[in-house]
Amino acid sequence: MKSLYCSLITLIFAILFISFSWPVQAQSHHKFLQCLFSLHSNDSFPISYVIYLQTNNSYSSILESSIQNLRFSINGTAKPFVIVTPLHASHIQATIRCSKRHGLQIRTRSGGHDMEGLSYVADASFVVIDLVNLKSVDVDVKSRTAWVESGATVGELQYRIAEKSGTLDFPTCTCHTVGKYGLAADNIVDARLINVNGEILDRKSMGEDFFGIVFYWKLKLVHVPSTVTVFTVTKAPQQNATQVVHRWQYIAPKLSDDTFILATISRAEASEGQRSIQFPELGLLKQDCIEMSWIRFVVYFAQFTTEPTEILLDRTASMKSYFKVKSDYVKEPIPEFVFKGMGPMFDEYEGRFAYMNLVPYGARMDEILETETPFPHRAGNIYSIMYATGQDEEITHFEKYINWMRRLHRYMTSFVSKSPREAYVNYRDLDIGVNDKDKTNYEQSSIWELVKVKSLIDPHNFFKHQ
Ligand SMILES: Cc1cc2nc3c(=O)[nH]c(=O)nc-3n(C[C@H](O)[C@H](O)[C@H](O)COP(=O)(O)OP(=O)(O)OC[C@H]3O[C@@H](n4cnc5c(N)ncnc54)[C@H](O)[C@@H]3O)c2cc1C
Repeated sequence: MKSLYCSLITLIFAILFISFSWPVQAQSHHKFLQCLFSLHSNDSFPISYVIYLQTNNSYSSILESSIQNLRFSINGTAKPFVIVTPLHASHIQATIRCSKRHGLQIRTRSGGHDMEGLSYVADASFVVIDLVNLKSVDVDVKSRTAWVESGATVGELQYRIAEKSGTLDFPTCTCHTVGKYGLAADNIVDARLINVNGEILDRKSMGEDFFGIVFYWKLKLVHVPSTVTVFTVTKAPQQNATQVVHRWQYIAPKLSDDTFILATISRAEASEGQRSIQFPELGLLKQDCIEMSWIRFVVYFAQFTTEPTEILLDRTASMKSYFKVKSDYVKEPIPEFVFKGMGPMFDEYEGRFAYMNLVPYGARMDEILETETPFPHRAGNIYSIMYATGQDEEITHFEKYINWMRRLHRYMTSFVSKSPREAYVNYRDLDIGVNDKDKTNYEQSSIWELVKVKSLIDPHNFFKHQ
């Protein structure tokens, strides 16, 4: 009887709470919109054109347009109550000020590639600022720089650079360019950022106030060869695949900075490519090699082999899928038996969609000091590993495939970086840790230097995510 009484009280309380909280939330949404209209008085860029409420016909297509990980577009995923697609910095400023004033969280989305969907998912009432309309690219060949708005894709950037020069590019990722040019972050010259107070700052004026929404980047362009030679070599287990991958660890990170070999391990095959003289086990033949221009190579590396380079401008061409990714850093070559031991795991049913990419570091990454750009995986790391599993089609019981990958990740524990086990920030993996449902506070996380800076700049932790 007592428990029935308790549950009745709970039920009544829950109903009361829900019925009070809905109008409160609706009210704050309404006030937020009123605030946007009153704060934004720039008549040449009316903010009303770029506000999409859930009742708007275009809301769903805009929300879904750049979701790359379809795991976060399924029913039940929290959706923003409004999407703002700024045409002008003043739209971002007004959205920040009004969200702060009315207690709404913001999620900022540029390309929507976040592996855990953090640019468009939240567990509180939130606004998405989608920078899709801010996508201009202005290349200056003479000064080897480009001003780029944050909503431009790397494909658009690389296409626009190639229009003006066949021997310039911007290193966009830890992939084929990392050993020669370092990271994208190593090649940033300046940025325009809007801080928690809605003020516009650049590199000079921001000092340590670098938390906010970046809407413009000034990039340093790098010299690339006009022609490159590429190849893909596939090795089956009976062709000594594990021996080749084992050798790869000693060779790929030490190659001169004009040669890059990515190794991929998957259930069916392992593939690598490189010059045969330094790596005879690869068995590379002349007919495996194809010569192409740099921009064609960019397209080839993005796995579009025959498409015209204009594919880089096509945002609908990106390969969306349901996926999960994890990562590791390797400091010492891993014994061959470890690669052999993976074979039976990849043969399991849940291993069928999985693969591992081994990306060599070394070369330029060894030269740049940790203090130059805040990126901790410099000299001493021979390569990074990306573990991925996923499919274009929705996979039933996907959790089983993710658990398989977690098991592979555990299997690697003794052979990768330790204390701490390092991970690559761009391969976002919430298995590593999340905020405790908004209860993690500055005090709890004060062991990190960056937190000390943020607690001064953004004392109410306005810019945050999971
Ligand atoms: C298919 C695929 C391939 C990938 N390949 C590589 C690769 O080869 N190498 C590599 O290094 N990484 C790779 N990544 C990871 C990718 O680089 C990161 O996810 C990166 O953050 C994506 O940028 P985005 O603008 O698309 O992300 P978004 O999802 O838009 O944002 C990512 C995070 O940054 C925040 N954010 C976005 N825009 C801004 C802004 N303007 N100002 C402030 N904060 C902002 C978001 O709130 C979110 O927390 C890949 C991802 C995918 C899905």
